[in-house]
Parts: sequence; structure tokens; C-alpha cells
Amino acid sequence: MLKNNLGYPRVGAHRELKKASEQYWSGKINTKELFAVARTIREQNWKLQQNAGIDLVPCNDFSFYDQVLDTSLMLGVIPARYNDILIKNENNKEIDLYFAMARGYQKDGLDITAMEMTKWFDTNYHYIVPEFTKNQEFRVFSEKVFEEFNLAKHVTGTIPKPVLIGPVSYLLLGKEKEGGFEKIDLIKKIVPVYISILKRLKKEGAVWIQLDEPFLAMDLSQKEKEAFVYAYKEIKKECPEIKTLLTTYFEGLNENTSFAVNLPIDALHIDLVRAPKQLDSVLTQIPRNLILSLGVIDGRNIWKNDYTSSLAHIKKAVAVIGKERVMIAPSSSLLHTPFDLDLETAINPEIKNWMAFAKQKLNEVNELSEIIEGNNALLINNLKTISTRNLSTLIHKQGIKKRVSAIADTDASRDNEFTVRQKIQQQNFGLPLFPTTTIGSFPQTDDIRQLRARLKKNEITQEEYDAEIELATVAAIRWQEEIGIDVLVHGEFERNDMVEYFGEQLDGFLFTKNGWVQSYGSRCVKPPVIYGDVSRPKDMTVRWSSFAQANTKKLMKGMLTGPVTILQWSFVRVDQPRSETTNQIALAIRDEVVALEQAGIKVIQIDEPAIREGLPLRKADRANYLDWAVKAFRISASGVKDETQIHTHMCYSEFNDIIEHIAHMDADVITIETSRSQMELLAAFADFKYPNEIGPGVYDIHSPRIPSVEEIASLLEKAAALLPVGNIWVNPDCGLKTRKWPETQAALINMVSAAKAARQKIVADIVI
Ligand code: GLN
Ligand code: ZN
Repeated sequence: MLKNNLGYPRVGAHRELKKASEQYWSGKINTKELFAVARTIREQNWKLQQNAGIDLVPCNDFSFYDQVLDTSLMLGVIPARYNDILIKNENNKEIDLYFAMARGYQKDGLDITAMEMTKWFDTNYHYIVPEFTKNQEFRVFSEKVFEEFNLAKHVTGTIPKPVLIGPVSYLLLGKEKEGGFEKIDLIKKIVPVYISILKRLKKEGAVWIQLDEPFLAMDLSQKEKEAFVYAYKEIKKECPEIKTLLTTYFEGLNENTSFAVNLPIDALHIDLVRAPKQLDSVLTQIPRNLILSLGVIDGRNIWKNDYTSSLAHIKKAVAVIGKERVMIAPSSSLLHTPFDLDLETAINPEIKNWMAFAKQKLNEVNELSEIIEGNNALLINNLKTISTRNLSTLIHKQGIKKRVSAIADTDASRDNEFTVRQKIQQQNFGLPLFPTTTIGSFPQTDDIRQLRARLKKNEITQEEYDAEIELATVAAIRWQEEIGIDVLVHGEFERNDMVEYFGEQLDGFLFTKNGWVQSYGSRCVKPPVIYGDVSRPKDMTVRWSSFAQANTKKLMKGMLTGPVTILQWSFVRVDQPRSETTNQIALAIRDEVVALEQAGIKVIQIDEPAIREGLPLRKADRANYLDWAVKAFRISASGVKDETQIHTHMCYSEFNDIIEHIAHMDADVITIETSRSQMELLAAFADFKYPNEIGPGVYDIHSPRIPSVEEIASLLEKAAALLPVGNIWVNPDCGLKTRKWPETQAALINMVSAAKAARQKIVADIVI
């Protein structure tokens, strides 16, 4: 049985690549030094995998920024706007062109925008979106894949397995930059270039080549299926001696099974963590000779493998197709897991014993194969660990489980419907038309960050820290009052991150010291780990919200992160459905909402920016997800009286296909990101006749640019043409924590002026 690995994290155990790249970008180190760091990481990764007993060690899974961008460079898919870099920059280096495509280029008198970035399936990893034109040409441009293959061969003394994104998935990941063609039609042009790459790899000694085709496990059109058949028939015809390993992950083959297993390939990888049920249908339909790579170890999470269930899969497959045709592997590339659990010294040892990061997962592949060979001690060991986990009092809190199972429909509904609540709230609040507000955070200046760092290092006391945060909060309140904002925020100065801040105060969460995973380019995130039943031992935000409310006569908005977003941005437990965990978080947030209400806070915002990204990859699974996700939000929001106004906020989202579910969340007010699309997004709300109040973002907070009064006013006019005027709020696209104060102040002053102008115009229109 071959031990297979699809890919390994590449930022380095201590984020060496991140640090080196950032130094390179700021001119502190040169290309040679950057390459040396990259080389060391690769060598260490290969040796580590080799020592762990992996037979098919991947190469070309390393990337300086993103593997899809690597593929674009490999295939010469370089948008025309970058030509000038090649011409102007004398000692033009491929790496500078590459980074320019990822990050934009402002040098040598050039100002070229970066390529678009979007999420890699349902992960929090972002890839650089290929840009295709109607007459798109492909050619071998970057030699990286060959260089990396030869280096890996040299370092390991064996034949590594080059990893490429397959031609069909590569096309489907891209975007048509002009009309008159469909990207999938480019398949006939792209396949010959793949074939030339495969032939050259073969000549240089490659045996197995991994072609990632995750789209094979997604909803496919007839045309897309035909593209798969065409591509792999051609490849088999032209490169008969190459062993092709097609990988799918994050979903099951489902209705594509018979089609997929009959492609002319040598091996197929399936994800049995996300889609365990597919094994049976794959085994019934598998043709003679096809090898199956079983993804039994979770490449997306941090828990130890349950060997009993993995072995059941492996044995089932062996019984049907024999040992020689089975490979054992993690479910997907290990890119989505942190590097090494051994580096975590502060995690409770009982919980740590349930966990496995990338390095430990390699060992699991090895142990599974040893168990198959008869090493029972390893299995017994694993059984013990899994059973302590199943019973641990650190995880299981009967009170919480009972409370979740007792949730009734009435818990997920406000007392009265929106129109009734709206009337009461409008009377009580007396807000003007086009009320102004912000999304929550104000600039997190270096001073504020340093303050938190010093508190962590015990250089200042909690009291000293709080006193400084109070000063910042009061200053922000005074300033909002001065410029005439209607519903104030306290600024979130006390928060490090919108999920971490809550996770740290909830039971059932833990935080790692070094559990970084790549989010995009050099940016890494350290998701919290939800290991147990979630509960809220005490108030989380009441102290700061009531302090803020006590400092103003205006309405102060309480600020919370919603249950779905907390779930989505954490590593979650797998011993119960995600919906169950979300409900536990929802109850904790609900209690906080009620506590805020009791403390006199009349407006409470529950942020759910991640609700859209949790949408399942397969359409058939979406309704179920939306059901429980929306319900969880409603549970968190429905413990209060009609008088209390619940806001929610969402960003980075297309809402068109889920608008009815957003409406079903029944927040009194929703604020959304819309300015970059010039309010286009609002059309979905207008077409749907979205009933509740809505604050379409009137300026983009991702840029320091200050929007003019006229600009904002014209966006408000657009909004007023689409929505009932009495329902419109005025606010930026998102929180302001990444901005600086000067631009924030200038922008908000203009925003308030634009709102005032809009009010006057409405009055004038009525008088006329
Ligand atoms: N309240 C949060 C803030 O203002 C919302 C952030 C977000 O939507 N990502 O920072
Ligand atoms: Zn936002």
C-alpha cells in the first residue's frame, strides 16, 4: 500500500517564508536571500515527509504566494497590463513579475493593479484568479515545476511526485475578462501545453504526477464533463507512460462517480473525511486497474485521526480491489492545517493528546499502514485516546447539551414581527431619516496595539490598560458626537480580533501559540480551536458597552460577533454536527444580547460577515445549511424585547442567491458592503423587496481614499431609488480598524454631510 501526501504547508514552522517575503518586498533582503529561505523550507519539508515514510512525496506544492498564480505563470497566462514590467524593468526577474501580479506594481513610473483574489473553495485560503481573454494563448513560461522536481530529486534521492493543478480545474478557477467566449472552451488550447510539461517531466525522470481536479467533485455541466474527458484522453494518448493521479477533495464525486472513475487515469484520490459515503459507490463502479488513494486523514482540521473508522474504509477498499491498488493519504493538501503540534507547549496536555497538526498527520498515514501490516499496539493506543476524548468532562457539559436540545421555535423568533418592532423603535429613538452609524471598530493605532502587547508581557497592569482604553473610547465618543453621527459605537479598542475576543472569554475554546495557516500570500491566521461544549461563564462586552453608553446621551450600539462567524473562523470539533456547535455558541451570544439589554443598551449589532462563505460547495446541500445557520442567528438575536433594535452586518458577499435567507434572519437593520459595486448589490435587496431596514455601505474601507460628499450623496440617491427611504441607513462598508484616523475622520465627516444633504433633498422633494 503506497503512502501518499497531496501537499504540505509552505510558510515554514515559524512562518519563515512570510517573514522573508515581507523583507524582500520592503527591500531589506535580495532575491538570493529570499530564495535561500524558500529552499531551506522545501528541503526540510521533503526530508520530513521522507522520514515519516511517505512514498509519494509532493513537489511543486511549494509556492511563494499561491499555487494558482504559479500555474498562471507556468502556462504564460500573464495579463497584458504586466507587459511593461517585462520591458521596463531591466534586470527583470520572474519573481518580481510574479509578485506584481499578486500585489500590484508601483515603481519605475508604472502603476499596475494586482490580480483579483478569491477564496479557494470553502477554505479560508485565497488564490489569485487567472484572467482569460477570448484569444488567450498558453505556453510554457515559468520553469518552476521542473526546477523544483530536480531539486526534490536531488534532496531526497528518490523520485518525488510533481503536483499540478489540472487543466480543467485551472480553467474553472479563472475569470473571463471579455465577452464572446466561455473559459471552458479554452481546453483545446491549454491541454497541449500541459502535455508538453508532462512529457518534459517524464524525460527528467518523473513517474507519478498529481493533477488536482477538485471540480470533479463539484456540480458539473455537460460541457465541463466533456472537457474532462477530452483532457485526460489526450494526456493518456500523448503521455502513455506517465502515471496520472487525479485528486478530488472537499466534496464527494456523487453523481459524477461513474464518469470520474472511467477517465483514462492511473489513480484517483477521494476525500473520505468530507464525503465518506462515496467510497461504496466508487468501489462498485471502479474499473479494473484504477488505483484508489483514500483520503482518510482530515487535511482541514487539527484532530487526531480515529483509526477505527479509517481502517474500516481501508479494509473495505482492500477487500474489493486488493492492497496493491490502495493508497493511504490525508483528505486534501495539508496546507490548511498548522505545521507542528510539538511547538505547542501551553495547551492542556489532555486536549493536546487529541490533536494532530500537519507533521503529526504524516505520522498517522504511516501508522495506519503499519496497523494494516499487523501492528496492533498502535491501534490500541489510538482507541484509548479516542475513547478518553469521547468521555472527557473537559468537552461534555450536560447542562449545555440539555439547553440546546430544549431550544424551541419560539426561541428563534422575536415577540412581534418587524413592522410592529419598527414602529416602536422609531418612536422611542426619534432618529432622522438616513440615520448615520459605523460598523463598530475605529482605527487600531500602533499605540493601542502596543498597549495590548505590553499587557500580555505584564509590563502594565490590567487597570492601566483599561484606563488607556477608556481614554480612547471616550475620545471616539466625543468625536462622533461632534461630527453628528446618530448611532454611536464604542470603537472596539479593547479587542484584538472579532472572533478571538469572544473565544477567549467563552468556555470550550483554546488558542495555539503557533497554529498558523496561510490565508493569502504572506498573511497567516491562527484560528481558535473549539474543543468542547461552548458556554459563557460571564458577561463579555457589557463592561465596555455600558461604560460607553454612560458617556453619551446618544444611542450606543453594542457590538457582538455572530455564532456562524465564530464557527466559520475556528477549527471546530468533529464529534458533533457543526449545527450543534453553532447552536451552543448562539445561546452564549443570546445571553450576552440579553445582558446588554438589561444594562440599558438599546441597539445591538451581531456581525455575521462569514455566513455566506459557509455555504456548502454542492447546491444540493445549501438549503439545509442556510436553515440551521439562519436559525442560529435568530436564536442569538431573539431573547430581547421589541424595543431593542438588532443590527447585523455582512461583507465580502454576493447576496443574490441567498437574499431570502438574509431576509429570514429578520434583523431590524442590516449593514452590508456595497460601495465597490456602486450599489449594484442593492438590486438583489430591491428586487426581493427586502422588508427590514438596511445600511448599504457608502464607501470602501479597504483603501485610504476619502470619498467626497457628492460621491456619497449620489450613492444615497441610488439607494433611495431602490429602497423605501424610511428604511435606509448611512454607514461605511465595514469596520475601520485597519484605517488611520485622519482619513477616517475626513471620510465620516463627508458621510454625515451627505446624509444631511439627502434628508434636505427628500424634504424639498415633498414640499415641491
Ligand atoms: N464589528 C466589526 C468591525 O467593525 C466587523 C468586522 C467585519 O465585518 N469583518 O471591525
Ligand atoms: Zn465587514
